[in-house]
Amino acid sequence: RERQMIARRQRLLGPAYRLFYENPVHVVRGEGARLYDPDGNAYLDVYNNVACVGHSHPHVVEAIARQAAVLNTHTRYLNDLVLDYAERLLALFPPALAHVMFTCTGSEANDLALRIARAHTGGTGFIVTRFAYHGVTGTLAGMSPSLGKGAPLGEAVRTVPAPDSYRTEGDAGARFAQDVEAAIADMKRAGIRPAGLIVDTIFSSDGIFPDPAGFLAPAVEAIRRAGGVFIADEVQPGFGRTGAHMWGFARHGITPDMVSLGKPMGNGHPIAGLVVQPEVVESFGRTVRYFNTFGGNPVSCAAGMAVLDVIEKEGLLDNARRVGAYLKAGLDNLAQRHEVIGDVRGAGLFVGVELVRDRASRAPAGDIAARLVNGLRERRILISAAGPAGNILKIRPPLVFSEADADLFLAATDEVLGGLAP
Ligand code: PMP
Repeated sequence: RERQMIARRQRLLGPAYRLFYENPVHVVRGEGARLYDPDGNAYLDVYNNVACVGHSHPHVVEAIARQAAVLNTHTRYLNDLVLDYAERLLALFPPALAHVMFTCTGSEANDLALRIARAHTGGTGFIVTRFAYHGVTGTLAGMSPSLGKGAPLGEAVRTVPAPDSYRTEGDAGARFAQDVEAAIADMKRAGIRPAGLIVDTIFSSDGIFPDPAGFLAPAVEAIRRAGGVFIADEVQPGFGRTGAHMWGFARHGITPDMVSLGKPMGNGHPIAGLVVQPEVVESFGRTVRYFNTFGGNPVSCAAGMAVLDVIEKEGLLDNARRVGAYLKAGLDNLAQRHEVIGDVRGAGLFVGVELVRDRASRAPAGDIAARLVNGLRERRILISAAGPAGNILKIRPPLVFSEADADLFLAATDEVLGGLAP
């Protein structure tokens, strides 16, 4: 059955897509932190940050259905829901971030951020990290080095190494700021005026680097001194994932000029947005009439509102903090038995486990990570690996993940690692 589906998919959707796993998972239903195949087998979801409040959460489903039955339309009429949701969302940000522009995807939010940054600064140059992913549009693909050779970087784009706390000697934050300064100088030598620095505030695709808290501040100062803006890409770390805060940037005690949101925002329903400081969007607003047909439509806003309800009512920030700490402690414990675990790091329910050949060389062990990911899949646990060498286990489950779920995951990881030949 699955073989036929794979062939059909290729015939209908063409050659550009990739599925997870050689033996892809066929899913028909989701609930909480579980996905189910057609035979009713449950898979523990340790990866899915879209269904942040749990797959098909009844409160979100009900909110979408209720609003869809009453009204959905494009966004050029007056409707209360978009204003109520904007107000509720903006209340979660520092007061300087006073406007939100709704889009449908994280890519659209980032693309809009680039346009606003260019209009505000008069510059064209952007700095990204060396293995970043920021989106699917032509411009963003040219700012997403993780896409590899198929997506050449834009001429005015410069890359800096991620603030790798595992490998950097000394102060990773100071080093990151120096690298940003060097990229700015390089741009200026090429006659390019800096427009901005855009980073995923937990460096998801570069390898998950949340620590030490505060380390981003000097780099943000550097780009502002050079006339550029700081764009926080919160598509992955946003909406409580990092536990202590709603947003990843809050860990760093900074207020970005713009913040892009996506993935978890509608728990799977497509809604995204860009939160922006009024003076930053001023010149763009004077010259451009922005219209996004579905961005901020009533059904999307109902979904977004329901997600915020659940995060608050079910105390999911607290859960992310508590279960995240429990998981990290369990992984530190596993590291005492398995030499291949070089580093365990993370914030809340966003945890990275770096697998290495040996702890002295810290050489990445991407092959071991691949075997672990596949071994877990055979035990019906879904996870992925990240980073330039694919050796960093990316633990990013729905925020309803429990300590019992963590125990299942830890026991299976222990078992698979124990069974791998050295
Ligand atoms: N930024 C980051 C950090 C992302 O991870 C992604 C999606 N993987 C995007 C932007 C783009 O979001 P979307 O796929 O919704 O366009």
